[in-house]
Amino acid sequence: MRLRNKPWAVKLVNDHPEAVIQDPDPAKKINWEERVADFSRPLEVEIGSGKGQFITTLAKRHPERNYVAIELQTTAAGIILRTKLEEELDNLQILRADAINLADFFDADSIDILYLNFSDPWPKTRHEKRRLTYKSFLKNYQTTLKPEGHLEFKTDNSGLFSYSLVSINNFGAKFDFVSVDLHHEDEEILKNNVETEYEHKFASKGNPIYCLHARFN
Ligand code: SAM
Repeated sequence: MRLRNKPWAVKLVNDHPEAVIQDPDPAKKINWEERVADFSRPLEVEIGSGKGQFITTLAKRHPERNYVAIELQTTAAGIILRTKLEEELDNLQILRADAINLADFFDADSIDILYLNFSDPWPKTRHEKRRLTYKSFLKNYQTTLKPEGHLEFKTDNSGLFSYSLVSINNFGAKFDFVSVDLHHEDEEILKNNVETEYEHKFASKGNPIYCLHARFN
């Protein structure tokens, strides 16, 4: 999803360095402790947050946890930031960067849950390395997740989902949960599901939503 450039969003991002880190220097560790009120709280990170419906809902619902939204596009980061400021979400930080460098941004064993929601499918074989479930990304997830942490992935794209099942399995991770029709699972599962913007769009058209949870240790 490429958003049209919105000058107000770019300005908002530039005006709030305390809330948005832009293209951090990989050689320097980000000091998360000075950016959030209590860094001992559980840390959850979403890669490719888009306009941020999912992560801002979670941050509002769980003030006792910390959240980081990683997003490539400045306009998307600005839209997430606007919600953060309006809703006073002090437990949410935004990282405007490419998640390929995840292991430079976070310490090893520091993340409780990593979310990938409706990631770009990159269907051409020559673009396989850009898929967020390609082995180089999985290596970074394994490094940065706590030993008891896990990955949660949702998509409407059956090709990306089957690719991801094989890639994650070949990497040696274990699946805790797999669904090929998340929205028709038991009530217990549905009540914990937070919809993303893309999820809402595709589920309203009747498309099945695929989901997996995996752990690396
Ligand atoms: N997660 C949202 C949802 O479910 O509604 C947005 C999905 S959109 C298809 C994918 C988003 O991931 C885009 O906003 C894109 O800019 C972002 N993205 C793609 N590759 C990324 C990367 N390597 N690092 C950070 N963000 C990325």
